[in-house]
Amino acid sequence: TGLAANAANHTPLSPVTFLERTALAHPNRLAVIHGEVRRTWAETHRRCLKMASALRKLGVRRGDTVAALLPNVPEMLELHFAVPMIGAVLNTQNTRLDAKTMTFMLNHSRARIFFTDREFSDRARAALEGCDAKPTVIDVDDPSFDGGEALGTMTYDQLLATGDDDFQWQPPEDEWQAITLNYTSGTTGNPKGVVYHHRGAYLNALSNVIGFGLPSGAVYLWTLPMFHCNGWCYPWAVTAVGGTHVCLRQPHPEPVYDAIANHGVTHFCAAPVVLNMLINAPEELRKPFDQAVTVATGGAAPPAATIEAMEGLGMKVVHLYGLTETYGPSLVCEFQDDWQHLSLKDRAAKMARQGILSLSMTDMMVADPNTLAPVPRDGTTIGELFVRGNSVMKGYLSNPDETHKAFAGGWFHTGDLGVWHEDGYVEIKDRSKDIIISGGENISTLEVESTLYDHPAVLEAAVVAAPDDHWGEIPCAFITLKRGHEHLGQDDIVAHCRANLAGFKVPKRIIFSEELPKTSTGKLQKHVLRSQLTS
Ligand code: ADP
Repeated sequence: TGLAANAANHTPLSPVTFLERTALAHPNRLAVIHGEVRRTWAETHRRCLKMASALRKLGVRRGDTVAALLPNVPEMLELHFAVPMIGAVLNTQNTRLDAKTMTFMLNHSRARIFFTDREFSDRARAALEGCDAKPTVIDVDDPSFDGGEALGTMTYDQLLATGDDDFQWQPPEDEWQAITLNYTSGTTGNPKGVVYHHRGAYLNALSNVIGFGLPSGAVYLWTLPMFHCNGWCYPWAVTAVGGTHVCLRQPHPEPVYDAIANHGVTHFCAAPVVLNMLINAPEELRKPFDQAVTVATGGAAPPAATIEAMEGLGMKVVHLYGLTETYGPSLVCEFQDDWQHLSLKDRAAKMARQGILSLSMTDMMVADPNTLAPVPRDGTTIGELFVRGNSVMKGYLSNPDETHKAFAGGWFHTGDLGVWHEDGYVEIKDRSKDIIISGGENISTLEVESTLYDHPAVLEAAVVAAPDDHWGEIPCAFITLKRGHEHLGQDDIVAHCRANLAGFKVPKRIIFSEELPKTSTGKLQKHVLRSQLTS
């Protein structure tokens, strides 16, 4: 056209603008429900501006880290706006980590401020003792929690009161500026600090709105911890549609079912383990609900049986895949119209695949990890999943070596192995460190686990490699059984697997256990199980 871009329209993208727009469009709509607390969008907007101003007065500057060790409370949501309003970086900490790791994160990020909740005061105190430079501690004094101890110089509300009502926030000069910092759980070595930028957070939030089908005024239940990949960017996404955030400190079945029935919840996100808890909760905890409820699941592979059971509870399932490094969701198992006509079982099998790129991403491939040559789309050749796009992290904070490795060859290396189907959908088979190689054949532990979950007595299953003199490795299954099925024998499980799996994939060892070890984000800890086999 010969036209140059008009500089006045060239504004950096920032998810903070969602709050501005919603406060204008829906000032009187409910923004937040938490216990007895109800706040509108106008109030929430005002509180965020005031908190931004208060933090500025405390000396927080652009690029500084503000750490938060909080459950899903309204204050955690507000910090997702207040901190970026002044160009600072929000580090939401995993509340289930040990004090030593918390100290590492506070030191590594040079946190200036540390927001805490009384529930975690023991570990927070111990973490602060080890800090090189102590951050200013602010207590979120949540009335719905009893116990613990206040550690800070003041409460959140006292700090808020010091802020100015008419504070003017400035959008970032550069949309690639850091907005948040999320540490990976790091099963070996120190955690890595994944840096997100304003642009990626903006685009991934909108991509979620579309991928999850969030309508204006959606009622979103906070079952997923906001500390995990910034709640997969939903603090920003739900705000973008002027929805209502229903906060929840713990995603136990009873409060989840209560919130769905009492607050008209339409959407929530949860890892498959949480869905399993809902499915297996005692019947009397379930409350009837009239509205359509959609649940996005991800963070680990949902067995087809879990998707089937959720549909049985009357909830629609959307399956997402992602990593901390991709702001949470980066693939979505986009539902195809003709799947509607499949049997529930066949449909669930299609939906258990990880899918195709979400809107904020630009490219993906399943490829040979050494040559980066894409594998054929035949549904059987295994390769590593590589992605690139706007919602891939900036890099790891102060860690050039790991950043370089993660982006080698111009692609982000997910470390997940999978196949590419003819229809372009990816199916993850394993994390590269979990796959079993038995007599030269690859065995996907996810496939074996999915078969185990099809057995009506199986509550949880994890399959790992056991060393074997003859085969190199053999599949070994750890299983917990549903209540009332405790007497099930190994033979039943083996017979079920034989009927549904190729012979070499059938677990050669089966260990029944009371509970399976999980990470702080609810994922099965396969390295712990493997070490039990060798010790
Ligand atoms: P970590 O588990 O290392 O703390 P993440 O939360 O970033 O870190 O986990 C990302 C990993 O979780 C992915 O690499 C993948 O192995 C697994 N994952 C996430 N979503 C899915 C999914 N929908 N299906 C299968 N695996 C998934």
